[in-house]
Amino acid sequence: MPLPIATLPRGKNKRPDGLGNSCACCIRFFTFGRMKHLFSLAGLLCLLMLTGAHAPTSLAPAPAPKFSLVIHGGAGYMRPDNLSPKDQEKYQLALTEALEHGYKILADGGSSVDAVEAVITTLEDNPLFNAGKGAVLDITGTVKMDASLMSGEDGQAGAVAGLSRTRHPIKAARLVMEESPHVMLSGDGADAYAEGAGLQTMASDWFVTERQKQSWQNAQKNKGNGYQAPANPMEGSSKFGTVGAVALDQQGNLAAGTSTGGMLNKQFGRIGDSPVIGAGTYANNKTCAVSCTGHGEFFIRNVVAYDVAALMQYRKLGLQQAADLVVQEKLKTKGGDGGLIAVDGNGNMVFSFNTSGMFRGSVNQEGLAQVFIFKNDKAYETKIGGNADLGR
Ligand code: ASP
Repeated sequence: MPLPIATLPRGKNKRPDGLGNSCACCIRFFTFGRMKHLFSLAGLLCLLMLTGAHAPTSLAPAPAPKFSLVIHGGAGYMRPDNLSPKDQEKYQLALTEALEHGYKILADGGSSVDAVEAVITTLEDNPLFNAGKGAVLDITGTVKMDASLMSGEDGQAGAVAGLSRTRHPIKAARLVMEESPHVMLSGDGADAYAEGAGLQTMASDWFVTERQKQSWQNAQKNKGNGYQAPANPMEGSSKFGTVGAVALDQQGNLAAGTSTGGMLNKQFGRIGDSPVIGAGTYANNKTCAVSCTGHGEFFIRNVVAYDVAALMQYRKLGLQQAADLVVQEKLKTKGGDGGLIAVDGNGNMVFSFNTSGMFRGSVNQEGLAQVFIFKNDKAYETKIGGNADLGR
């Protein structure tokens, strides 16, 4: 490295290393050139400071926007003794697959409404769950499906009840929310509206699976004269599988959705909580997004999903505290079996249920997907986006 000219011996400008004068001239030339560069760089910086009023003043990286997703596949009395390890694995894989679909949308910057719809569509297509194909049968032996969707950003909501032909009821709920001036459509009108808008429809027996037919036949044997609500309609391994999802997207918007076939052997025309905004589904950016599952009549009477949000808004409870107060205290004292999933605007994700199990899962921003079935269950973990199955 040539020394700067100021450090050279005075007078002759001789280099201590004995380099000749010609060299010193070169050095002078180059160092003067460098000074010039320094001056122009400083000038440029001054100019930027003067003109660049909007230039960033700090180079610290902005925190990554948050997003989170929680899903459920129904609450009920599943226990390790009535759900074989093989069946447990089927549910774990199905829930993980659904989480993966939702995660991809959220990680790419997609909306919480899109993520919720994608998760629920996946679960509706899976006959393991009581939604879409594989839904329970009503007292007449037919499938009647309910669904709802709510956007926390603008408070818009859509719901459908008693569908028997629309393949994805959650898409019909979204259609009602976005394209119609209404909040809820039911029965033939809802199916026709969905079909008219281009949603896929199927023959009504396409939804009926052998497993649900069997459960219905068993229920029919015990029904006696007309419909009688069983003492505990949530008891028994086939009586769960409603699906739901709640999400926070990178824009800070919450959404919630729920889809179900309702309750096995339900009265013809019965509508549960799942399509009722405020009971089975609710979302508000100010508080939280909630999706419920359980004995619907109790959830309607207790306005469960909205109650969680109201406890946060008016009593300033935290998300878990609000969810537990509703599910573990208010519902439980009244005999309302079931649970809920919820997420708040900070990305906190919670589950709360008062049955022995609830198919449920969550995925965080880092792609760690966790799925659980029973109370105090060990997580079935998967890293989404990588190929490492962390196993049980
Ligand atoms: N809540 C649903 C209904 O009552 C059923 C369920 O979640 O399992 O229709």
